[in-house]
This record gives sequence, C-alpha cells and structure tokens, in this order.
Amino acid sequence: MDQFTGKGVYGAIAIGKISILKKQTARVRRVRIDDPEKEIRRFEQAKEAAAGQLARIYETALREADESCAAIFEAHRMILDDEAYNRSVRDMITAEKNGAEYAVFQTAERFAELFSRSDDPCLKARGADVRDISHRIISNLLGEDPDGQPLKEKSILCALDLSPSETVSLDKEKILAFITVQGSVNSHTAILARSMNIPAVVGVGEAFWSAVKDGAEAIVDGFTGEVFLDPDRDTLERFREKQRREEAEQRLLRELKGKANVTADGTTIDIFANIGSVDQAEEALENDAGGIGLFRSEFLYLESRDFPSEEQQFTAYRQVLERMGGKKVIIRTLDIGADKQADYFHLKKEENPALGYRAIRICLTRPDIFRTQLRALYRASLYGNLGIMFPMITSVSELHRILQICAEVRSELKAGSVPYSETVELGIMIETPAAALISDELAEMVDFFSVGTNDLIQYTLACDRQNPDIEQFVDPHHKAVLRLIRMSADNAHRHGARIGICGELAADTTLTETFLRMGIDELSVSPSYVLKVRQAVRKADLSGKTPAALPPFCP
Ligand code: PEP
Ligand code: MG
Repeated sequence: MDQFTGKGVYGAIAIGKISILKKQTARVRRVRIDDPEKEIRRFEQAKEAAAGQLARIYETALREADESCAAIFEAHRMILDDEAYNRSVRDMITAEKNGAEYAVFQTAERFAELFSRSDDPCLKARGADVRDISHRIISNLLGEDPDGQPLKEKSILCALDLSPSETVSLDKEKILAFITVQGSVNSHTAILARSMNIPAVVGVGEAFWSAVKDGAEAIVDGFTGEVFLDPDRDTLERFREKQRREEAEQRLLRELKGKANVTADGTTIDIFANIGSVDQAEEALENDAGGIGLFRSEFLYLESRDFPSEEQQFTAYRQVLERMGGKKVIIRTLDIGADKQADYFHLKKEENPALGYRAIRICLTRPDIFRTQLRALYRASLYGNLGIMFPMITSVSELHRILQICAEVRSELKAGSVPYSETVELGIMIETPAAALISDELAEMVDFFSVGTNDLIQYTLACDRQNPDIEQFVDPHHKAVLRLIRMSADNAHRHGARIGICGELAADTTLTETFLRMGIDELSVSPSYVLKVRQAVRKADLSGKTPAALPPFCP
C-alpha cells in the first residue's frame, strides 16, 4: 500500500479503481535523435493513422451531428497535407535532430501563435485546429488513443491537471472521485468538483503520478486529502466505516429539509446555491436552497464550441428560472478569462491573467457579446425572479457604463415590443479590494452586492488562487478580508442594498456566526453544502455575547 497526501476539495470518501486521464503535452520532451530518416517515417505513420481516425470521426459527425460539424474534421485533415506545416516538422527533425513528438509540438505552437496574431477571425480559429490535429499526431506517436477511451466503469479519475472546461465535460455518472497531481483548492476546477459532489483531492504531487497505474484499487479521502493506492484490508475496512459514518451524517442533514434558516435568538438568513449549469438547479432544489445566489453563466460558454447565441442563452436562463419556480435566481454575466478559457474568444496569453483581460473587462470592450447576453437575460426575466450580477467591478465609472448598457438594451427591447420584467434587480460582485473600499458609492447604484471571496482573498492577500505553492500564505480568515466584507455589509445596508456572499468562504461554518453578526443577508454555497450551513445557522445564538471576533468597520 502507498499513501499520498494532497488537498481535499470535496469532503467525501471514494473507494474504487483508478482510471488515468492521459495528458500528453507534459510528456513531450525534447530528445535528440541520431536517425532523422527513421523519425520522419514515424511522423508519416502517425499522420497516416491520424488521417484514418479523422475519416471515421467525419462519418460519425455527419451521422450524429451535421455537415458544418463534420467540416471541422475535414479542415483538420487538410492540415495533414499542408506544405508549410510538413516542412517545418521535417526541418526540425533533420536540421535540429529533434524527436518527432517535439518537432510536431513546436510546429503547432509556432503556427498557432502566428494565427493568433491575425485580425481575421477565421484565421484565428485555425490556431486551435493546428493544435488539435498536432495533439492527435503526438498521441499516435506516443502510442496513445487520441480520442480517449470512455470510462467503462465508475472509476477514480487521475490527471496531471484538469482545466475548468475539461472538468465540465467529464461524464459525472462515470466518476467516483478525481485526483490531480497539480491544482489548488480555490481553482475553478476544485469549485466544480464541489458543485458536482465529486470527492476530489488536488495537488497530490509527482510521486503519486509515478506510482499510479490504470486499474489499481484506491481510496480517496476528500476530507483530509489522503489517497491510498492498493490499500490493505485494515485500511479498506477503516475507510468503509468512515464512509458509513458520513452517510449517516448526510441522513441527519436531510432531516433539516423544510426547516428555517434561523438562529436560536431568531435571526434569519437566506441560504442559496451556486450552480454552473441548468441541470444543477435540480440539485439546488433537492438540497432545499432558497434560491440561486450565483449562476456562473460562463460555463454555458465553456461547454460550447462557439459563442452561444441569444436564443441558446435565453433557453438556458428561462429553464433555470422556471425550475426555480419564483425563487430568486441571480445570474452572473460572463466571467471568462484567467483560468476559464474558451478557444473561440482568442484571448492572448498574459503574464498575469488574474489581473488581466477578464470578466467585465471583456464585456465592456466587446459590447456585442455583452449585449447578446443581456438581451437573453432580460427576455428570460419574464419566467421567474431574476437578478443580474456583474463580476470584477473596480470602479464607479465602470458601473455607470454597465448600467447605461442595460438601459439601452431595455429600450431596444421595448422598441421592438419584446417583453421583459420591470422588476429585474441589478447587483455587483464585491471581489476586488477596490470595490469593497468604495462600496459606499457602489451601493447607491445597485440593488445588491455579492461578495466573491475566492477572488477577494487572492487580490487582498496578493496570492494567486491558481498557485498551489503559496497556499500556506493564504489565510481566508485574514482580518483584512473580514474587514472588507464587514465594510461592504455596513455600506450596503446604509444605502438600502442587500448583501450576500457567494465565494467558497460562505460554506465555512466556522465563520457562519461571524457572517450573521455582520448582518449578511444571504449565503450562497454549492448545493451539497446548503443543509450543512443551515445546521450551523440553527446552532448559532447571537444573544448576549460580545462579538469579540467581529472585525471593526474602519470608515
Ligand atoms: C469568487 O471570486 O468568489 C466567485 C464566486 O467567483 P469565481 O470563483 O467564479 O471567480
Ligand atoms: Mg470571482
């Protein structure tokens, strides 16, 4: 038995077989070769295999999708014959004596970079195609199946790392748990694992990657971050017992369904759920959430191969609103960028993506995208109780522009006799220290705030949430963070706005009482945490105690 420790991101136990998700780019190393002729033959064979695979995929796409979808694979096949592409790979093999894998990888990167500089959107899109087909050739060279084998049975998925878009496309029904070698607890991948109720451990380290084998038996403890490979009988029994206790605890929590979120002294609070897809509205309801405090709309974009149309978005928003049957639904406008990347946005590589071109900055500089989303949201507003929320706000002028665009979209709809609800509330995320510090001015302009603690922590403590190496310096309970939340709460209430928390800290039950004392109106958490937070609220008693732990508001 081997034991490894990473960071648990969703508390639950899984016992089962390992399935390794191969990620080849990390395995493309620069090796010097002696026999370029042989290497070129390997390249040609890998291309031939790729051509056969593409022909099969083309047929399947024609059968199961349509011609435009199939055309993507025809475009890939054409790259295989492209003169410049082939010359570059051959030159890197013969002149520089590189292995074929590295020559293909470097050629793909060079071509993709060239395409990304083009102003023509069609040429830009070719960058992704070149990477995709090169990925296929490299897989063939490495003897891997480029189309991946679908998981045959429910297994524990292991990967070096998973991007948010890879995580959303995982077949949840087939996954018992996941383990990543890299990754940090506040990354979107970790957040997704929590919202999908999948036991998960991230940052388990390179030694695990060397030891793990497909099909091996393993235990994943999402509470402690422990992973056991080939566990012995005693360990298995210990964890089966822990699993049983956890199930009993879950049964106990289920008894809280239908009960109020009220403290012993009568203080109440709303407990809402965070979701990333229409289907998750069902989980929110199953867990008795009072509404949706954060619908991360960018996942609609991440799951898509191109910009979702107004109609597609309208349908998704309408479905969520209808399923929630009149309960509040706060939909956040597109928060793409940084770790959440969709190829068709063609975002440039940045030195500091968290401080870069993301979220509302994209929406304000590409109003076509923003207006399409706003039109879809306003049209859907007729079907429920909608709040629209804007991410990454830092200034009053930015918010003025946003509200102006919203007003223009409403006028446009009115002029076209397209109905929408007049009671849509508008709010912003408080996730930058700047927003918290000017929350008095911002509160006058909106109906509600929602504190995004994941980003607020990273920007306040200057700790990149994606970087697992600095997690020891991240103190989510840092006074600076709590003071900013308190300051935002006081300012919101002073100006008649409501305030919620939708970052992961909202589910930290050691802070529930502190948040209640601050007067936070709503906590929004992953669906599976709703009842746990309700339990913490019902245990709290705010009467008669001095709020020693409450950070002061310093005007
Ligand atoms: C946050 O920053 O706390 C938040 C809720 O937004 P996201 O995690 O999607 O950045
Ligand atoms: Mg955020």
